[in-house]
Amino acid sequence: SQMLAQSKAEGKPTFSFEFFPPKTAQGVQNLYDRMDRMHNFGPKFIDVTWGAGGRLSNLTCEMVKVAQSVYGLETCMHLTCTDMEKSKLDNALKEAHQAGCTNILALRGDPPREKEKWEATQGGFRYAKDLVKYIRDRYGNHFDIGVAGYSEGCDDNDDVDELIDHLKEKVDAGATFVVTQMFYDTDIFIDWVKKVRAKGIDIPIIPGIMPIHTHAAFLRRANWTRCNIPKHWTEALEPVKNDDAEVREVGKGLVAEMCRKLIDAGILHMHFYTMNLAQATRMVLEELELLPDVESPLQKPLPWRPSLGLN
Ligand code: FAD
Repeated sequence: SQMLAQSKAEGKPTFSFEFFPPKTAQGVQNLYDRMDRMHNFGPKFIDVTWGAGGRLSNLTCEMVKVAQSVYGLETCMHLTCTDMEKSKLDNALKEAHQAGCTNILALRGDPPREKEKWEATQGGFRYAKDLVKYIRDRYGNHFDIGVAGYSEGCDDNDDVDELIDHLKEKVDAGATFVVTQMFYDTDIFIDWVKKVRAKGIDIPIIPGIMPIHTHAAFLRRANWTRCNIPKHWTEALEPVKNDDAEVREVGKGLVAEMCRKLIDAGILHMHFYTMNLAQATRMVLEELELLPDVESPLQKPLPWRPSLGLN
């Protein structure tokens, strides 16, 4: 489709991985080992999510530093407004800048763990667009700034059209790419992209892909994000739900089929929510024949500039 074919870039689709800061020191070490191995899959970049407050957010900065400078991975650091007064934002941005990170995903953020409803912090920001503007004002064009998109509504707003208006505000504030919430219904997603384009948003849109690790996790995440599960997915997964290996096998086929449909629609970059695990993501990439040859392992990819601009 014309509307979705945003890039003149020909050739192979590309992909990226999202990781989150683990809770224990051992978890951190395991993740570094896994990041090192997954580096060889050839991602264009990796994301590190932002946990609200305290130790986990320091860990985000540290992980970005290690991934960027030790493993030579292009990184994108998530940053949120939750519990962040401006001085804390300044510190986080300074650390990202010093680590050589040039990509920020600017978010409003989830509410802190102990709270149900999101509240603004005194001396901080209320909306992601305020954070986007702040980063642009302070750092000019140093950072590519990504923002979140929701094809089926977000946790505190299920009005998709209103969310597109808010997405437009984030783009007008200086965002240069969009990463979407996970979804399983490609038709809904593609219709949403058309709507977004019709609103005059023309920056790259990167679909968030959640591979299937177990049946329980699949259902939990779909329920949590309230995304539609196509009927043929349920029909394929339900009969094998007690066999984890079979669920991964069937799930791999379904997720790969979804990625192929996206690629056919001209969406040439996919962002994988790895959940810090390699297997399910690797299986999908293998199915799509996007993994490098085992015989000739990939060279360390060049730092990926300009802009995370694909699609
Ligand atoms: P915003 O775009 O600011 O929207 C937040 C709410 O405000 C929405 O309901 C919106 O409709 C409303 N709104 C926006 N503008 C206006 C306006 N002008 N007037 C009235 N209402 C308005 N959370 C984390 O804590 N850490 C992470 O690392 C993280 N990573 C994520 C990555 C992706 C790809 C996605 C999709 C989400 C991620 N989240 C993360 C979750 C995200 O922080 C929550 O979904 C949050 O509730 C919304 O964030 P946002 O950036 O979309 O906010």
